[in-house]
Amino acid sequence: MADHSPVEKAIGSEVLLPAILVVDDNAAKRIAVRAMLAPLGHNVIEVDSGREALRAVLRRTFAIILMDVRMPTLDGYETAKLIRQRPQSEFTPIMFMTAFGGDGAEAATAYASGAVDFIFTPILPDVLRAKVSAFVDLFVQAQELQRSLESITTLNAALWASEVRAHAVLQNVADGIVTAGEGGLIESFNRSALQLLGYREEEVIGQPLKLIVAPTHHDEFSEAARAKWSLLNAKGIPAEATQTVGCRRDGSCFPMEMGISEMQIGSRTFTIACIRDVSSRTAYTEALANRALHDDLTGLPNRTLFADRVDRSIAYADRADESRAVLLVDLDKFRTINEMFGREKGDALLRAVTGRLSGAMRESDTVGRLGGDSFGILPSGETDVEAAAAIGWKIREVFEHPFLVSGDAVELRASIGIVLCPQHGRSTADLLRRSDLAMREAKRSGNGLAVFVADPADEAARRLTLLTDLRDGIPRGELVLHYQPKVDLTAGQRTTGVEALVRWRHPTEGLLAPAQFMPEAERSELIKPLTDWVLNEALHQQRVWSDAGLDLTMAVNISARSLTRHSELGDTVAKLTETWGIPPGRLILELTENAMIDAYVAEGLELLHAMGERLALDDFGTGHSSLVYLQRLTIDEIKIDRSFVTNLVSDPSDAVIVRSTIELGHNLGLIVVAEGVENEGTLEVLIENGCDSAQGYFFSRPCPADELTRWLTESRFGAAVGVCG
Ligand code: C2E
Ligand code: MG
Ligand code: MG
Repeated sequence: MADHSPVEKAIGSEVLLPAILVVDDNAAKRIAVRAMLAPLGHNVIEVDSGREALRAVLRRTFAIILMDVRMPTLDGYETAKLIRQRPQSEFTPIMFMTAFGGDGAEAATAYASGAVDFIFTPILPDVLRAKVSAFVDLFVQAQELQRSLESITTLNAALWASEVRAHAVLQNVADGIVTAGEGGLIESFNRSALQLLGYREEEVIGQPLKLIVAPTHHDEFSEAARAKWSLLNAKGIPAEATQTVGCRRDGSCFPMEMGISEMQIGSRTFTIACIRDVSSRTAYTEALANRALHDDLTGLPNRTLFADRVDRSIAYADRADESRAVLLVDLDKFRTINEMFGREKGDALLRAVTGRLSGAMRESDTVGRLGGDSFGILPSGETDVEAAAAIGWKIREVFEHPFLVSGDAVELRASIGIVLCPQHGRSTADLLRRSDLAMREAKRSGNGLAVFVADPADEAARRLTLLTDLRDGIPRGELVLHYQPKVDLTAGQRTTGVEALVRWRHPTEGLLAPAQFMPEAERSELIKPLTDWVLNEALHQQRVWSDAGLDLTMAVNISARSLTRHSELGDTVAKLTETWGIPPGRLILELTENAMIDAYVAEGLELLHAMGERLALDDFGTGHSSLVYLQRLTIDEIKIDRSFVTNLVSDPSDAVIVRSTIELGHNLGLIVVAEGVENEGTLEVLIENGCDSAQGYFFSRPCPADELTRWLTESRFGAAVGVCG
């Protein structure tokens, strides 16, 4: 026989429907059987020899085999035996078609060879169909059973795999996870928990859960606490993580964050404690708070802390109906001295001035360093104009003797501006600004000391002019956006986004930086049209770049004022992203820390976040309480302020802060961006520490869109050009 007979082809193509194999060397008989079976509609396959039958059963499973007994070479009985020996056909029912119905010996041989039934010739069609139908039904049922069995096996395997996976996750999470049963007795301890607390598994199973906290904190697990978790659990709210004190096996304690939840599985209630060692974070918070509030060079309170003290002092004075003073002390021509003697001596000089100023003041007064060569003084207690002037004169005396710096005697002078609260202002910002004006007057007049003289007409006029100019300037198209690239450090060091920074092309004053007009705009209603303009322009440009195959995220700075004042910012963003076809998640809104503190802002942020926009915390490290807010707010990204980044390579304390900030950000699942990268060394340190993204003059200064487009396509830090969209 040829290798591929028509029979084989038929076998190869049909596997699922029940099939019947007819084995007979007599073609006429095969045809007759096929005709009798036709009404059943099954697939009937014919072969003409025992050998062909053996081949057929190798290729598929039959519901039944109808076989002639007498065939040349291999007779029916031998064939049946061989069929039975093959695993594929071990259980396939075989029915002999035979004329020897009455012979008991023949029947015995037939059964011994593996037959399950007989049909006698001449075959009665109804009998054949009834018998075959019974076997086909059995076959179908067996197949169904097999399928159920298979799906049960698969399900079992999947369950097993998911349990293995859950266990692996539990064992490999960084947080310690401890579970306890109803009686508060520990039932499981994952690997991190064992490491954190120094136990072996067998030592803790069955022990009370409160074992993990210091004895002083056992009331974390009191009945009242339990009642609270149950209540939260019933409402489906996970309990907030609390700061507590963890207790190791050796009895040593450490600051620990612990979140407790309850879980119901079937009729059982489990307590799950998620624990984490926060010692490094606590130390870091303190270091950051200290660093954020003090000046490195002199150790004096910095501008932020000084302003905070003024705030408190004003609030107190207001209640007590007292007067307060702020003095601004600015060194004359210090820049020239610095250039003449070099920076090192300049620094030594500033420290010497600090020593003398602090010495001249009382312990309870505040001396702060507000900037390069300017100091602020906040006398404690009630201070009227005479008292303030007396302090001013005392400060002038401090400068009467030359300062000795590495053998050189340096003559220094200072100009002092004095403001009083409430006469000259009731807010810290107003007081500081006016003390600056008074100080300038002191310098200009050469008196060295001046008390602020309110000239409301003047200041109001200046403000009015600026605001009028800006109000007209926005619709006249005087605002421009410059863009600064944001380079991804995780893969390939290519630009993946830009930040839009506003400039004002003032008709007479030239190109103004944001610092020269944003504060005024923020104080007035103009912040709304300005923000709207910036958003529209930036998103339009993003579209232009996207059409050119440059797929970039767009970061836009948002003032706190614009969020609280016009809560419709969400609507504006929604409208403009639709107009310019910007998909969600490609716009990043940058806010400063202090802006985030406002409760209204927090609400506004949730809304923008819910719309899919990304939020970045700008100038991170310069404001208050960053960490607390970081945990509460829905932020995606933090931007480390450039004051920490620029001198990263030379200043070890900056390096520590930057590294810890990156770690902290990553622990909170945030993207960390470094601002103010000015050289390759800084970039390398940032990459080493795993910083995600960087911005700075080293890559590019902020520049107009067309200039940046060139840069994006030419620089090695430029953007990857994709398919035009
Ligand atoms: P920012 O958002 O922190 O922007 C970064 C500032 O750092 C920019 O100053 C930029 O020019 C500068 N810069 C970037 N790389 C370096 C570097 O390597 N070294 C140094 N020394 N500086 C670098 P710019 O453009 O003067 O903006 C100042 C601030 O004004 C911004 O700070 C932002 O808070 C605000 N601002 C800018 N545009 C807008 C705006 O459209 N809306 C609002 N609300 N605020 C804006
Ligand atoms: Mg920014
Ligand atoms: Mg910034």
